[in-house]
Amino acid sequence: MSTYIFGHTTPDSDSIVGSISLSYLKNQLGEDTTPSRQGEINPETAFILEKFGFEKPLLKTSYAGERVYLIDFMESSQSPSDIDQATILGIVDHHKLGDLKTDSPLEMWVRPVGCSNTIVKQMFDYFGVEIPKDLAGMMMCAILSDTVIFKSPTCTKEDTKAVKELAKIAQIEDYKALGMEMFTIKSDVLNDTKRDLVLRDFKDFNMSGNKIGVGQLEVVDLSIFDNMKEELFEAMKEIKEEGDRDSVLLLLTDIMQEGSQLLVLSDDNSKVESAFDVKLVDNQVWLPKVMSRKKQIIPFLEREF
Ligand code: MG
Ligand code: MG
Ligand code: MG
Repeated sequence: MSTYIFGHTTPDSDSIVGSISLSYLKNQLGEDTTPSRQGEINPETAFILEKFGFEKPLLKTSYAGERVYLIDFMESSQSPSDIDQATILGIVDHHKLGDLKTDSPLEMWVRPVGCSNTIVKQMFDYFGVEIPKDLAGMMMCAILSDTVIFKSPTCTKEDTKAVKELAKIAQIEDYKALGMEMFTIKSDVLNDTKRDLVLRDFKDFNMSGNKIGVGQLEVVDLSIFDNMKEELFEAMKEIKEEGDRDSVLLLLTDIMQEGSQLLVLSDDNSKVESAFDVKLVDNQVWLPKVMSRKKQIIPFLEREF
């Protein structure tokens, strides 16, 4: 029986690449594992898989009776709905401690670094397993994505070190240029429906019984959203209502200006205002220096809700 390795719902590059890199490592160590995913891949991830010649992991959303490793998440709100009927063998993650419970002891590799693939790189080193060239290139891209090419406040020295070492293995000299190429692809927001844009990198959080959904779009030039705010709000309203959410937030992050325009639809806007000590105008506010949902948004919302 194979063991599945997968990342969070609405998978990003770290979740998809992490399922592949961790599965490769586990298989080298003698386990039989299969990388899988809980949802469709985004354009950035498609670019990375194509560039390094990898297939999409298996699409699988139900895991009752299966043995699993989780990568890049440990929240029930980002898990398959039947996760409580699966056996969690281990977790590799770089987020806050989640609410999942297990029946038996498990392997945990959790560190406050910028990307799960940084931890997987450290696991390869720990076990003395060589990383193949193309896999190294993919892992490097995942780290550049999660750390916004080292600009995110979540980025640590360990992430930059991992990127440099992976770039060497992948024989990629100008990794920052590849990072920019990736973010240019990520900035392509004109071909998607507004609903797909809000959901492209979307996470639900349970904050004391309140369901809060937070999406993020990272682009190289924020002006691309100038004429679509109204439609984005309409899509957010739809998502808020159908999911019975208390609030839906959308972070439009400008990676060059290094800040985010926050769009808010909430049953109580004042909570969001006091969380960030701001006044919303037309349900929006510019948050300078804010680039990380994990570090600069979620903890402040949790304190308030
Ligand atoms: Mg992720
Ligand atoms: Mg990650
Ligand atoms: Mg991210």
